[in-house]
Amino acid sequence: MATRRILVTSALPYANGSIHLGHLVEYIQTDIWVRFQKMHGHEVHYVCADDTHGTAIMLRAEKEGITPEALITRVLEEHKRDFAGFRVEFDNYYTTHSEETRALSSEFYRRLKAAGLIDVKPVEQFYDPVKEMFLPDRFIKGECPKCGAKDQYGDSCEVCGSTYSPTDLKNPYSVVSGAKPIRKTSDHYFFRLSDSRCKTFLQQWTQENDHLQPEARNKIREWFDQGLNDWDISRDAPYFGFEIPDAPGKYFYVWLDAPIGYFGSFKNLADRTGVDFDRFVKDGSDTELIHFIGKDILYFHALFWPAMLKFSAHRTPSHVYAHGFLTVNGEKMSKSRGTFITAESYLAQGLNPEWLRYYYAAKLGQSMEDIDMNLDDFVARVNSDLIGKYVNIASRAAGFVTKYFAGKLAPVDPVSKSTFEATAIAYGSEHLIRSAYDQREYSKAIREIMRVADAINQRWDKAKPWALAKDSTQLKAFHEICSDCLDAFRILTYYLAPVLPETAARAADLLGIPQPFLWANLRTPIVQVKEYQHLMTRVDAKQIKALVDANRETLQPAPARAAAQSATPKQEKTVAAAAEPQPISIEDFAKIDLRIVRIVNAEHVEGADKLLKLTLDVGSLGTRQVFAGIKSAYDPDTLKGRLTVMVANLAPRKMKFGMSEGMVLAASGDAPGLYLLSPDSDAEPGMKVK
Ligand SMILES: [Zn+2]
Repeated sequence: MATRRILVTSALPYANGSIHLGHLVEYIQTDIWVRFQKMHGHEVHYVCADDTHGTAIMLRAEKEGITPEALITRVLEEHKRDFAGFRVEFDNYYTTHSEETRALSSEFYRRLKAAGLIDVKPVEQFYDPVKEMFLPDRFIKGECPKCGAKDQYGDSCEVCGSTYSPTDLKNPYSVVSGAKPIRKTSDHYFFRLSDSRCKTFLQQWTQENDHLQPEARNKIREWFDQGLNDWDISRDAPYFGFEIPDAPGKYFYVWLDAPIGYFGSFKNLADRTGVDFDRFVKDGSDTELIHFIGKDILYFHALFWPAMLKFSAHRTPSHVYAHGFLTVNGEKMSKSRGTFITAESYLAQGLNPEWLRYYYAAKLGQSMEDIDMNLDDFVARVNSDLIGKYVNIASRAAGFVTKYFAGKLAPVDPVSKSTFEATAIAYGSEHLIRSAYDQREYSKAIREIMRVADAINQRWDKAKPWALAKDSTQLKAFHEICSDCLDAFRILTYYLAPVLPETAARAADLLGIPQPFLWANLRTPIVQVKEYQHLMTRVDAKQIKALVDANRETLQPAPARAAAQSATPKQEKTVAAAAEPQPISIEDFAKIDLRIVRIVNAEHVEGADKLLKLTLDVGSLGTRQVFAGIKSAYDPDTLKGRLTVMVANLAPRKMKFGMSEGMVLAASGDAPGLYLLSPDSDAEPGMKVK
């Protein structure tokens, strides 16, 4: 088999929010495919990066009182930690805020300009006269032009669902300063996607050679029918990004630096490892370039990006594979239902990341359809498939082999070869499983793997080895059935290795499978097994309930309005967005355990710009440690001994600096300043606030 050389990417997550289970569909999907190809000895480079530029990053950093560079560095570390936690193994995870990406963006731009594909046109946009900046759609709010609902974003109404342009809003205001925006015109740079050369190229490229999935091709034909528009690739200062080389005060907007960030990340890897960068990115390349993306960015990856590549003398993608969105229990992920689950919280609850990898694999196919994570089904499926079928084989057979045969397996007897029927069944599925993985039909691969696991278990139950063990005349048959099932388990472990890398590595240790897993070794039987060690535990439905509870945000309809949170507030849409508080019932309020506390110690935290570490005396509830974002307002020494109020039943949160076990309450307004709450002086630590 010829060695494939493949550059693989997943979409770049934005450096303005946490990785959640919705994101993970894509990274797990890609990681499984990459691991599978690497098992075949192919040369695969899997790269990704944080997408770090834009107004949202700039404003969030400003709000936190840090530089954008400090913000994106912190978020990069969080993202890397989350991906590693789910065993997503990039060959390089980088940032778009890099010299490599800056140089490549400039090079793309210069070549596209030389090809006559860059235009400059005046654009009228909303401008914040107080903040002196142009406002992205999401930073303008006003009344919906259709239904009149108040406080709607500049691009769509959350009440009636209509979409419009920000200039259609009634009584618009800037989310940044509250000022009434004015209309102002400035020159923007455009990539001329409407140019006949782009059209001719794309009409052919999008429809041939399976570059795109069939559904994607259909979608593209619709877009062609609507006509391709030139694409705005610039933003005016102030902006956090790369300045356009020959246009001072103008910055590259996302599509002229984010996809190029794939190459920036790969360049960084290539320079460090000696891989031939040009061979993977230049026109005439004999390698493959494969992008895994969500269907929401199909337009950019299937039209804009190939055209940019084509007319800047780069190779075009071999395939763009789009997947659907994740729903949880049949609905969109929701913070109020607790189904907007972050990667960090999943791991913090002690859930095994490989349960999720398995569940996603069991759901994923090659289509762009959404996949649903039903939480009850998740528990049932993981327990029944992984524990009940797969792990079960090893735990039963390995025990007997170590106890009765000193861990030695029976060799395949050429005469009674038919007694190794479980192994034969497992080998029989190899072709189907391999081709399913290669085609991204993971659900099909998993179905087949579990069919084999069922067959092995049936063979075991039918042979009744526990009865054979008691009959000294049946020792050979007993040894063979155990060996057969264990070797079949070994084959299953190869099949599952792309999905369950850690469990498979533990099984490899148990069975002496050479590492790393290489498909070329599939037919090397095991000879010796170690004493059985636990491979995986069951999911407890209680763990899932705790996970949902930890992610439920009934208490924070308005992010960080009246509270100095113990941790950075999670970002939903924009940093500065503050929704109107929704009414809650008295029962909802009663869920918050508010307590009087005495601050017994307060100290600076090494490396934290905003946090103080507080030690709180909560009376009968003992002592708690809380990280509070109040450093800008208080000298720690002045806090020692004073009373304040905390939320005592907030789920503990693992932070970079340690566990935060609650939240102290403080008030803040639009102006700078933070004010801790204080009870009257006779209140005592531990008292309830009701
Ligand atoms: Zn509306």
